[in-house]
Amino acid sequence: MYDKNNIFAKILRGEISCKKVYEDKFVLAFEDINPQTKIHVLVIPKGEYVNMDDFSKNAKSIEIEGLIRGIGIVSAMLGVDKTGYRYLGNNGIDAGQEVPHLHFHIFGGEKIGKMINK
Ligand code: 5GP
Repeated sequence: MYDKNNIFAKILRGEISCKKVYEDKFVLAFEDINPQTKIHVLVIPKGEYVNMDDFSKNAKSIEIEGLIRGIGIVSAMLGVDKTGYRYLGNNGIDAGQEVPHLHFHIFGGEKIGKMINK
């Protein structure tokens, strides 16, 4: 069940400010408030989806395309398409998802090491 009062829903409605990187019909991208790497940007769909489970089952094809293309557009805008980056999504409890609106993290701007630290 989607919570319309989650933080990213409020950012999408303009009720909370963000440092916007990019916006189009399907996505909003903004800097993470607590960056883990030199570049740390979040890309979120404009539709109301809790996580990848929800999105993969319920999003329209055009929304899925819009999100994937959005990640590519944002990575090019940030210049990390040249240097490399990690796109990461946390889904649910075991992954430690904090905000219940689907988002991809884009990490880059420096060497960021291997994938998993437990
Ligand atoms: P998750 O753990 O859900 O994958 O990541 C949530 C991310 O959202 C975290 O990296 C956190 O720093 C970021 N975040 C939480 N609240 C805000 C906010 O109000 N503004 C922005 N820009 N980022 C936020």
